[in-house]
Amino acid sequence: PKGDRLIKLNTNENPYPPAPGVAEALKHMDIDRFRKYPDPAASDLVHALAEYYGVGDDQVFVGVGSDDVIAMSFLTFFNSDKPVLFPDVSYSFYKVWADLFAIPYETPALDEQFCIRPEDYYRENGGVIFPNPNAPTGRALSLAEIEDLLQHNADCVVIIDEAYVDFGAESAISLIEKYENLLVVQTSSKSRSLAGMRIGYAFGSETLISTLEAVKNSYNSYTMASLALAVGEASIRDEAYFRETCRKVAATRDRAADELRALGFEVTPSLANFLFATHPKKAAPEIFSALREKGIFIRY
Ligand code: PMP
Repeated sequence: PKGDRLIKLNTNENPYPPAPGVAEALKHMDIDRFRKYPDPAASDLVHALAEYYGVGDDQVFVGVGSDDVIAMSFLTFFNSDKPVLFPDVSYSFYKVWADLFAIPYETPALDEQFCIRPEDYYRENGGVIFPNPNAPTGRALSLAEIEDLLQHNADCVVIIDEAYVDFGAESAISLIEKYENLLVVQTSSKSRSLAGMRIGYAFGSETLISTLEAVKNSYNSYTMASLALAVGEASIRDEAYFRETCRKVAATRDRAADELRALGFEVTPSLANFLFATHPKKAAPEIFSALREKGIFIRY
């Protein structure tokens, strides 16, 4: 949407500015560096992420937003004749990539409370992917449920898309050491206020990461601009600011949910930075249009 008097809630961006360290990094950016190609291995950003999350540099992959990382992962890991599994109500791009790469897929239904049922993912498949917390529902699986799902899927790659994990759910990064087939994808777009910089990353076993690297290097070696590399590293290094903004977003989410409930909305408990709500009397398209008239953008 164009214009400056807008409240834009429809792509789950962060209302707070990026970490102060990001502005510092920009101030000190040597633009002569732009003459040259960036580091194709993105070593400094990879190292900062590895240090922050307590994994090895060879267990980290970076890309142009998590969309790029996930698309690359579909291409790399989802290539059997068996269907890939993801929830029927989930991130809409999974279906788009599966169609684009001609990957068969099935979409198990969420339960009545909009939760993923791990047992739906016990059947034979060509890979599993879901967001945790799920989008657009905001509902999350516990680490124990994720581990259960992994134990039932030892023969395929399981991708947990943690775009919204920093707002309250448990990350599965701690499981990559134990499960060689687990890939955990995260992004700077939401919790680190850097959607415009396009920085995403994945954590997994050395085997998964080196395979992703091999595919990436057969497609486009220089995915990450020098500017994005510097900004991404600065944001990872500012932990206090990150924790504080995530806490504030979660507090606003919970307060907004209470206020919406007081207005008669039914609101699903969310661990993300968005709310999934319905009104018993007003249809969603009506609410969408009325809010749009006022310059407030939501999704239905
Ligand atoms: N996964 C999920 C579940 C998302 O909602 C989004 C953002 N729309 C993404 C991945 C991609 O985000 P980005 O490419 O900005 O990292």
